Amino acid sequence: MRHHRIASIPADGIGPEVIAAGLEVLDALATRDGGFVLDVEHYDWGSERYKKTGAFMPDDALATLKKADAIFFGAVGAIDVPDHISLWGLRLPICQGFDQYANIRPTRVLPGVVSPLRDVGPGDLDWLIVRENSEGEYAGHGGRAHRGLPEEVATEVAIFTRVGVERIMRYAFNCARNRPRKHITIVTKSNAQKFGLVMWDEIALEVAADYPDVTWDKELVDAMTMRMVRKPQSIDTVVATNLHADILSDLAAALAGSLGVAPTGNVNPSKNYPSMFEPIHGSAFDITGKGIANPVATFWTGALMLEHLGEPRAAAALMTAIEQVCAAGILTPDVGGTSTTKDVTLAMVDAIRGANT
Ligand code: ATP
Repeated sequence: MRHHRIASIPADGIGPEVIAAGLEVLDALATRDGGFVLDVEHYDWGSERYKKTGAFMPDDALATLKKADAIFFGAVGAIDVPDHISLWGLRLPICQGFDQYANIRPTRVLPGVVSPLRDVGPGDLDWLIVRENSEGEYAGHGGRAHRGLPEEVATEVAIFTRVGVERIMRYAFNCARNRPRKHITIVTKSNAQKFGLVMWDEIALEVAADYPDVTWDKELVDAMTMRMVRKPQSIDTVVATNLHADILSDLAAALAGSLGVAPTGNVNPSKNYPSMFEPIHGSAFDITGKGIANPVATFWTGALMLEHLGEPRAAAALMTAIEQVCAAGILTPDVGGTSTTKDVTLAMVDAIRGANT
């Protein structure tokens, strides 16, 4: 029996609701498959802890998490805590401390889910966005001086290193190689950002030479937004900087129907530290506690985690169950249905138990 140690951090807002649903479904899969067990440790870190103790997580949090094979994360953010405090208090120290430099964001129109794009259905929009997750515009490099005075100044420096750019390019080209279309679009803004992004383009070209079986093209980030809307079929794998991919992937999630179906993985490809898997959406205060949060993003996130843990069969079974449940119209309100989180979760458990039996 294969054991995988999972650190579960549901944190804030709808995080606990969707993570509970995700764990229920993963448990049904593990039980059914028989080949593996998930040993789950729960951590109550998040904004409530911050408000009580001044810290989102304990000082030795990374040492604790290091023992896990993967981290299953909900969402962080509270109405009365500024976003940059919560982000830098919980998620980013984990991403940066564990060198999770590749952020993967698969996007697809699931059967039964309607894209806001006319005539775009399953098969027309099937993308993998690879986001640089360790440097670039979110490197946290900068400062503020003369606070509150008219001459106040703030800098926010984007950092691009050869090592950082080359490793994300290689990771993205590898992803493209493993997908049927073997095509990658390099997103850039080297017309206006003439240092970091010009180096980004040059390194992309160097790496492309090592992948003769992968076709590639280059798109400015502004033009990319139009292409995503007008020609979604022309896109397969995408690689973009931290900021560009952050924005493009929210657009991608909306085009696929809802933030509620969008998964992500913060991956450390060398596996020397655990990777972290989470739905893309945030705390969603407007629906917290109402029992209608869409758990599909978290289920799909679970499939990415299983893939990473070396359980491709269970990951595929999970994706099949998601497609069956969505196709059957068991959908939460954000994707046009009337089902609750619980309804969708129970339907998933039934689909998993019923598979091939
Ligand atoms: P944060 O600041 O915490 O990142 P955000 O401002 O990006 O949050 P989200 O919490 O991601 O916002 O939510 C944006 C909108 O999408 C909200 O109206 C929310 O209700 C909806 N939404 C997000 N996730 C889900 C979900 N899983 N199910 C249903 N609706 C969702």
